[in-house]
Amino acid sequence: EEAVANNNRNTTASRLPIPSLRRADRSKPYDYLIVGAGFAGSVLAERLAAGSGKRVLVCDKRPHVAGNAYDHYDEHGVLVHRYGPHIFHTNSEEIFAYLSRFTRWRPYEHRVLADVGGKLLPMPINRTTLNGLYGLDLRDEGQAAAFLASRAEPVADIRTSRDVVVSAVGTDLYETFFQGYTRKQWGLDPSELDKAVTARVPTRTSMDDRYFLDTYQAMPADGFTAMFEAMLDHPNITLELGVDFEELRAEGLAPKLIFTGPIDAYYGHRFGALPYRSLRFQHETLDQRRFQPVAVVNYPAETVPYTRITEYKYLTGQVHPKTSISFEFACAEGDPYYPIPRPENQALFKQYEALARAERDVTFVGRLGTYRYYNMDQVVGQALATHRKLVGAAASIEAA
Ligand code: FAD
Repeated sequence: EEAVANNNRNTTASRLPIPSLRRADRSKPYDYLIVGAGFAGSVLAERLAAGSGKRVLVCDKRPHVAGNAYDHYDEHGVLVHRYGPHIFHTNSEEIFAYLSRFTRWRPYEHRVLADVGGKLLPMPINRTTLNGLYGLDLRDEGQAAAFLASRAEPVADIRTSRDVVVSAVGTDLYETFFQGYTRKQWGLDPSELDKAVTARVPTRTSMDDRYFLDTYQAMPADGFTAMFEAMLDHPNITLELGVDFEELRAEGLAPKLIFTGPIDAYYGHRFGALPYRSLRFQHETLDQRRFQPVAVVNYPAETVPYTRITEYKYLTGQVHPKTSISFEFACAEGDPYYPIPRPENQALFKQYEALARAERDVTFVGRLGTYRYYNMDQVVGQALATHRKLVGAAASIEAA
């Protein structure tokens, strides 16, 4: 089965340019200009074109589709994710069924280990983690829960990320797994970050070592980029890649605009720049079949400069004599990746949101358009809901 999968990949590796990739035809009117060809922009383009018969022009300043989910074959022929590991998971049957129109899937359950002084322990923390770290023999969920309870340090008013973790598992586990990692990831101490950041990371008393527990966990069989190409391959969709919105802004190419880039950039940062955390990836190909035992190994120690190492063949199922990995470094400067969840940043966002609310013909969607951490499935859900709102509104305007 692996050999067949690999054969298929070799075919897609040399795939042709996207059929609908052509320059915008200025003589014909478009109904929508969509900025960004990531999940938000591409789902909306597909729905408006194929679902509602609209003519859509999509631009992206990057020279490729798929946004941060972009994957490609590196110079050694190994399929890698340029902007870091993307694992698809969702509990929504509707979202999974929608994306299944554009791809076959390969079942994949994600597993992560944390390197603590050379010991590799499951993340999120589970019973195996506790036994491995402390040399214990906790045999069931009750014993693990009792151990965690004995370590937990109640915090009266849980406000920050530190409060969340310390109140659940105590200072030692907090310092071992969260403090250094969070400082590296966000450039801030967990005590300065909204509780939502670490609330995303659960603690388990079972031995379940899957990173996600969602109903649907799978990777597009031919990769994310191939899925996006299928989604955007429609005669009503024109793609302009490597083109910044600012180059098209004055042209008035369409009466309606959907913007999936940073909302503060759209408004010329007039209230100040919204803070984002950026990432730098150091990609390497090694002349060996395997590098590490799972797809992602986290490095929580502050003495290690990177946060994690990803080995892509686990995610893609590709069979190849070499393997490609990436080291991930978090940094302040660079492309916007993560909105930084702090109350003052939300307050600044609200100022931009007020401007956005007053727009009749501009809609902001996606992670950067709405300044929120969203997983891929959430962005697909947001885009599908936005489509329903847009065509519903259009239908009611036409009816009036
Ligand atoms: P994007 O994918 O960022 O797309 C926005 C696009 O707009 C970009 O391509 C950008 O070039 C373009 N753009 C911006 N400004 C302009 C402009 N002025 N002109 C033209 N184009 C412009 N989610 C999961 O579900 N599972 C995961 O495992 C996962 N892992 C992740 C790992 C990392 C390191 C990161 C950063 C994110 C991860 N995510 C994951 C989240 C996922 O990347 C997002 O949910 C998804 O990419 C959001 O899609 P989007 O369309 O909103 O934004």
